[in-house]
Amino acid sequence: MSWAGDIKSSAETGAHERNYGGMLCPECYADVVTQETGLPACIQTTPRQERMTTLRRPQSLRTRFSGSLVIGMVLGSPGLLPLTFAASWTVKVQPVRLVNGAPVLFQVKAPARLQSLRGTWLGHEISFSLVSASKTWVGLGGVSLETSPGIYPLELSGETSAEKSAAKAAARQISFTRKFVIRRASYPKTEITVDRKFTEPSPDQTKQIDEAKKIKQDFLNRVTPEREWAGRFAAPAVAPISDVFGTQRVFNGKTQSSHLGLDFRVPSGTPVAAMNAGTVLLARPLYFEGNCVVLDHGQGLLTIYMHLSEFKVKEGEQVARGQQVGLSGGTGRATGPHLHVAVRWQGTYLDPAVLIKLPLP
Ligand SMILES: [Zn+2]
Repeated sequence: MSWAGDIKSSAETGAHERNYGGMLCPECYADVVTQETGLPACIQTTPRQERMTTLRRPQSLRTRFSGSLVIGMVLGSPGLLPLTFAASWTVKVQPVRLVNGAPVLFQVKAPARLQSLRGTWLGHEISFSLVSASKTWVGLGGVSLETSPGIYPLELSGETSAEKSAAKAAARQISFTRKFVIRRASYPKTEITVDRKFTEPSPDQTKQIDEAKKIKQDFLNRVTPEREWAGRFAAPAVAPISDVFGTQRVFNGKTQSSHLGLDFRVPSGTPVAAMNAGTVLLARPLYFEGNCVVLDHGQGLLTIYMHLSEFKVKEGEQVARGQQVGLSGGTGRATGPHLHVAVRWQGTYLDPAVLIKLPLP
């Protein structure tokens, strides 16, 4: 998946001026005159996600995995946990309905006191941290936009003691696998005609694009293991949403791409706030993105703020949630001012609107 969608289609000229009043953002192809849902309305489109309930497995799965817990405990911790030990693993996810493109909050209660817990999910490592008050292990992950609908396992492995000897540590490991159904999200679809200058850059522009691409490849796939984020992610601006994540765009009748961020309709000069605590990974102008700030929140989680008119932070600086990182604008390939915000987790883009809703510890 490319950064904010590659532009591949050829184009008729000027059509978007007529259709979109010159407000089309070629970076993200935001149609700022439609879908004026506003953040609250946008978020309210998925009320079920607010509830924290255990995902109900389909009957076939329930049957197949009944009893796997007991087996897992017995095999995973020989001689340590008496069979009379009645507690069990509890794994909850939020949003309850898992779809491609969404961040996922895992909440785990283990049958024994653990020193550490780690998980594997869709080929990614999930870091868990303990919330002492509720004795719950919490980890944040996601489902890439490309993930096909199906049943996927979360494989958990916990250490019941901080035993230094490898043999003893292995003996004190307990594991558990829980499978989840991932469904296909129904993202909106729009047809857009764009100007040729956005799809067929000159040799000089191509050089700039390639340079920016190198910078992005270098910075955007970094994973800092330590968690810097704490608590909920906040919206970067109080403004209506002009386009949602995942919108499928048919360019000039053929090429398809997906909108990999969330667009806020803001006039130029509006303060843009850090969505959570982190370190400024990148703060520099890029070809498509314009003045772009990337924050590293740790555990492979980045937030990206595009088209800024002004930077308010420098690379390497630590920021708090809500701190101004810049002022909105229309720099880069944007024909109108707006704020495009993206959330990237271990190399995959996730829906920022869903992340903002998650009750993170
Ligand atoms: Zn956008």
